[in-house]
Amino acid sequence: KFNSFDWRINMSTNYKFKILLVGAAAVGKTSLIERFVKSQFATDYKITVGVSILTKDVEYERGQFATLSIWDIGGQVKFSFIRTTFYKGSHGALLVFDLSRADTWEQIKNWKAEVNQFAGNIPMVLIGNKLDLLEAVGEVIDREECQRWAEEIGSIYIETSAKLGQRVEDGFVELTRRIVKGAS
Ligand code: GDP
Ligand code: MG
Repeated sequence: KFNSFDWRINMSTNYKFKILLVGAAAVGKTSLIERFVKSQFATDYKITVGVSILTKDVEYERGQFATLSIWDIGGQVKFSFIRTTFYKGSHGALLVFDLSRADTWEQIKNWKAEVNQFAGNIPMVLIGNKLDLLEAVGEVIDREECQRWAEEIGSIYIETSAKLGQRVEDGFVELTRRIVKGAS
């Protein structure tokens, strides 16, 4: 029998977006996805081999859902055939750096350029991950500069901890909202 809950689920699947996480090795791309999709965090370092894709429905506005296919890539991005497949047809990207390692922030502009080159001018959200390490490591990155740069590229800056689960969902939701705005 028809019920309102089924109706909501059926109405929720009109948007399907491919999104990417890019950024230097070990910034926490895989961890952010695992946290968002499975509500898990693993401390052991697993190198992502090839490309992995996970799917999750996200509620980007109350009662409005989109299905995200979330693409995660390892160090193989240097091979052009993998790179082409990875970027092709993507709707949005999270640009991820590690708040405890300044070099990962310095590389962000290159990652943005690469997304633009292979996927065009798609929505992006800047993510400073490992917020939980800030207290122990101290501030090694000018976070106001991150904020300014995000605004400059018409984006926003969000600080996350995949370890503690802080603001991880916000990153995915904000990106989805930006994609929907551009699509409608
Ligand atoms: P990737 O190479 O960008 O996919 O990075 P991973 O997700 O594999 O994470 C690299 C390492 O950083 C792993 O040891 C993770 O456990 C750790 N890590 C990831 N996110 C966080 C975080 O928010 N806080 C802390 N303290 N460690 C993290
Ligand atoms: Mg990984």
